[in-house]
Amino acid sequence: MSHYLDTPIEYLKGIGPARADLLKTEIQVFKYGDFIYNFPFRYIDKSSFQLIKDLKTDGETVQLKGYLTSLELIKGANNRRRLVGLFKDPSGFVELIWFQRAKVLSEILQIGSEYVLYGTLKIYKGKKSFAHPEMELSEKVKKGVQRSFDPVYYTTEKLSSRGLDAKGIRKAMQALFEKMPAGAIHETLPSYLLERLKLIGKYQALKELHFPTSQSALEEAQKRMKFEELFFMQMRLLQTRNIRKQTIKGHVFEKVGEKFNRFFSEKLPFELTSAQKRVIKEIRADLGSGIHMNRLVQGDVGSGKTMVALMCMLIAIDNGFQNCMMAPTEILARQHYASVLEYVSGLGLKIGFLSGNVKGKKRKELLKMLKEGDIDILIGTHALIEDPVKFKNLGLAIIDEQHRFGVVQRAKLWGKNKTMPPHVLVMTATPIPRTLAMTLYGDLDVSIIDELPPGRKEVTTKHFTESRRPHVLNFMHHEIQKGRQIYVVYPLIEESEKLDLQNLNAGYEMLLQYFPPERFNISVVHGKMKPKDKDFEMERFVTGKTHIMVATTVIEVGVNVPNATVMIIENSERFGLSQLHQLRGRVGRGAEQSYCILMTSYKVSKEGKERIQTMVRTNNGFEIAEADMQLRGAGNIEGVQQSGYLDFAIANLATDTPILTAARHIAEKILSADPRLELPENLTLRNEMIRIQKKYKSYSRIS
Ligand code: ADP
Ligand code: MG
Repeated sequence: MSHYLDTPIEYLKGIGPARADLLKTEIQVFKYGDFIYNFPFRYIDKSSFQLIKDLKTDGETVQLKGYLTSLELIKGANNRRRLVGLFKDPSGFVELIWFQRAKVLSEILQIGSEYVLYGTLKIYKGKKSFAHPEMELSEKVKKGVQRSFDPVYYTTEKLSSRGLDAKGIRKAMQALFEKMPAGAIHETLPSYLLERLKLIGKYQALKELHFPTSQSALEEAQKRMKFEELFFMQMRLLQTRNIRKQTIKGHVFEKVGEKFNRFFSEKLPFELTSAQKRVIKEIRADLGSGIHMNRLVQGDVGSGKTMVALMCMLIAIDNGFQNCMMAPTEILARQHYASVLEYVSGLGLKIGFLSGNVKGKKRKELLKMLKEGDIDILIGTHALIEDPVKFKNLGLAIIDEQHRFGVVQRAKLWGKNKTMPPHVLVMTATPIPRTLAMTLYGDLDVSIIDELPPGRKEVTTKHFTESRRPHVLNFMHHEIQKGRQIYVVYPLIEESEKLDLQNLNAGYEMLLQYFPPERFNISVVHGKMKPKDKDFEMERFVTGKTHIMVATTVIEVGVNVPNATVMIIENSERFGLSQLHQLRGRVGRGAEQSYCILMTSYKVSKEGKERIQTMVRTNNGFEIAEADMQLRGAGNIEGVQQSGYLDFAIANLATDTPILTAARHIAEKILSADPRLELPENLTLRNEMIRIQKKYKSYSRIS
């Protein structure tokens, strides 16, 4: 339809084949239509200027107005030329320097003329300078189109060196709009939506985004394009879910039978929380419906997801099906295995365990039993999804700690049954913000366990710097005397692995002095140890033989030692929020009051401080997840990067919650009234969806 937007980018005025190649490799722009979606990331208000004397912050972007008073082309050692200049405003002067295109610029820039300068300030030893500032003659700025905002585009070093700096891109974008024939950009939202939501048209929105005429016009444009982006994403997710529900049948678990009932009346060691009951009910409704279940259960650490999983598996067993439950680490899988064994003892069920460490005859036997249907529940690690693992009739697959598994692995599980895919229940203890859930799991059904079992005392969280170490050590003594156990966790990342291990060892040595081996036992566990040694040390702590466990984050996931009441996190500023939250979740699992102590050095970055403060302020995983997203942006949240759902051109999940919520709500309404978009007024939507489907045709059906 719109030929113009399909034009290869090299034909745009001022681009040509060489720059076109750069645009392709550097920012994936192939056609006019790609280029137009390369939105400015900020706008300069052309009417306001800072004064040089007021500039204080290294790295800030500033706009100045003043005179270029000198300019000199200097030959460097390796024959490379650089251009240096002096720029003055009524309050002072700054140095300018260019390393690229020095010769060309020395001919263009005019000494003695008034310029508008835009660039990133550098302050070094009190001296203020700019490298590669953008310079525009003041009179040109004045003469230019009536506008107060200039778009600033993201660019790269390579693009800049070929003239496609923010200014160059701006020029090319101007050319694109100037030559655009009427109707080249067709409207993608039906008029009833535009009217109802008071959104401006697409052409107008795109134009205003690149060349805003006023602040309010810009905001209208942003609103329109954000809505469009989020709305079509929700339409796609919801359609995928609807199609899946219509076309993929699920095993019907119609009854609740003997195992479930006996477990419920004889074995259940506690009263279920009402959140657990509600979630089990939601799952049961899925399992009995004949529709295939693909459900996510979100629940904070300690909210009792394992019990929910177990009771669902019992339903599957009552209906003659097998189950599997997959965990991301061996330790966690073993712990699940142990607790499930204990829970169901006496019910006459067969529970199997499989990991990479189950080998030889044992493994062979297990696989044989599995295939013949003699195993009711198989618990294990990634090993579960390997090809030789075959079930007789897998009815329900449970994945614990979702964020550690990728889409591909889930897809493999899905394929474990020849006839019909098993129902899939994904459990995550890393709550994610609602907007993110709507996006990442927009085509899954979601259940939330938003309640902790009764009697839990909130973990008390404190932040200390090194000067309080004696106090912390005293406190540790005190807790150990009461019979409690303590975790001390050190960061360990690949880039600084050696140093991190040294820190851990130094910490261990220090603790040995305060907790001498004659009276105390200390376990040490880190990822560099042999699995056998690791398990041995872990076991000593789990069984209460050691008082303190010094560890790296290997203990992050799942370890359950109710007697441990203190979690000390060293260099806690180096951990991400979700990691800190996970670690804190290791304590507060018994009846005793528990503590989380966040140790930091004196100097902590602003972001680090905010993370620590968030931890001290709240125990609520959802709140922490939200704070995490606000701090780092949605794209940096663990497990999100690979998803590919978040390459928005303009929307921002951290800040656009209201727009997303509205978009989802409207998409739901439209699709429930007109699932196939067959009504005449939805023709525009239908066409756009077809175009989008083509783009995403490789889209996985169970992501
Ligand atoms: P998570 O959701 O982090 O996986 P778990 O399933 O490991 O949590 O449960 C944490 C602890 O809470 C376990 O010791 C479990 O036995 C206990 N628990 C679970 N549900 C309840 C409940 N309704 N009442 C009391 N304790 C419970
Ligand atoms: Mg768990």
